[in-house]
Amino acid sequence: MHTFAYARPATVAEALAILAEHGPDARVLAGGTDLVIRLRDGSLRPRVVVDIKRIAELGPGIRVADGRLVIAATTVMAEIAADERVRRDFTALAEAAAVVGSVQIRNRATLAGNVCNASPAADTAPSLLVYGAEVVAAGPAGVRRFPVDDLFVRSGVTTLAPAELVTAIELPIPAGRLGAAHARRTRRRGHDLASVTLAVAVDAAGVTRLAYGSVGPRPVLVVDESGVLADAAAPDAATAPAFERLFAAASPSPRSMRAGPEYRLAMLRVLGGRALRTAIARLAGE
Ligand SMILES: Cc1cc2nc3c(=O)[nH]c(=O)nc-3n(C[C@H](O)[C@H](O)[C@H](O)COP(=O)(O)OP(=O)(O)OC[C@H]3O[C@@H](n4cnc5c(N)ncnc54)[C@H](O)[C@@H]3O)c2cc1C
Repeated sequence: MHTFAYARPATVAEALAILAEHGPDARVLAGGTDLVIRLRDGSLRPRVVVDIKRIAELGPGIRVADGRLVIAATTVMAEIAADERVRRDFTALAEAAAVVGSVQIRNRATLAGNVCNASPAADTAPSLLVYGAEVVAAGPAGVRRFPVDDLFVRSGVTTLAPAELVTAIELPIPAGRLGAAHARRTRRRGHDLASVTLAVAVDAAGVTRLAYGSVGPRPVLVVDESGVLADAAAPDAATAPAFERLFAAASPSPRSMRAGPEYRLAMLRVLGGRALRTAIARLAGE
C-alpha cells in the first residue's frame, strides 16, 4: 500500500477544511470496506485519508425530523436492518441492508459509503431510489440536498465535488400505505456482490416504482403510473407490455466476470416479477 496521511477530524467544519485543502487528493473514510480494498490494490492513491467516524455530528443514528427519516452518515447496515422504523416504513431498505456482505461487513459498512462508492451493484441503491431518498451533502458553498437518483454517474463516479461530504441520507416517510420488497441474485451463497439487485414499491394509487442495479453502469429507477402492474387481477395481455417497459434501460456489460448479459436480463425479469408480487401482497396486508 502506498503511504498517505491520515486525518481524524472532530467536526464537519474541520473535515471540510481538509477536503477543500487537498481536493481530489483527499478521500473520505467511513467504514472502509470499499476504500481500504482500493488503497491496498493501488486503484486509489490519495495523499490524505479523512476518517469521519469520530465526527459526532455525523452520528451514527437514525431519527425522524420534519416527516423524514434521517440516517446519519456513519450509520452502519446492521443498525439500519434492525431499526423498527426502517423495517416498517422502508421494508425494502431493511431487506437490502440485511444482505450486504457478512455480519462483519454490516457492522462496518455505512449506507452513505454504499451510495458514495457508486458501485452499480450497490444493494441499497435500488431501495433508496424507489423511496425517493435524498442525499444531504455539506461543502464549501454550504449544504445541499438532492435526490439519490442525481448522485450516480457511472461505476465509482458521482456528482459529488471532491470537497463535499455526505452528512446524511434522508427518506420521506410515505404519506399512504406502501408495499415494497428487495431482491437480488448472487453467484453463490455467502457474501458476494449482486449479479442483479432490485427493489419495488407499490402504493395504494397503483403507482409502481422499480429500481435495479448491476445491469448497467449505474442503478436505474423506472416509474409505472398506468396502474396495471399494481393490479394483481390485471390480465397478462395488459401487464406484459408494461412489465417489459420497466426493463428497457437495462444494459449489462458483456465484460463482467460475475454473469453474462443474457443471464442478468433474464434474472432481472424473474426477480422483478417476484418482488412485484411480494410488494402487492404486502400492500394488501398479507
Ligand atoms: C467482503 C465484502 C462484501 C461486500 N458485500 C457487499 C454487498 O453484498 N452489497 C453491497 O452493496 N456492497 C458490498 N460490499 C461493499 C461495501 O461493503 C459497501 O459498499 C459499503 O456500504 C461501503 O461503506 P463504507 O462505510 O465501508 O464505505 P468506505 O469504504 O469508507 O467508502 C466508500 C467510498 O465512499 C466514499 N465515502 C464514504 N462515506 C462518505 C461520505 N459520508 N461522504 C462522501 N464520501 C464518502 C469514500 O471516500 C469511498 O470512495 C462488500 C464489501 C466487501 C469487502
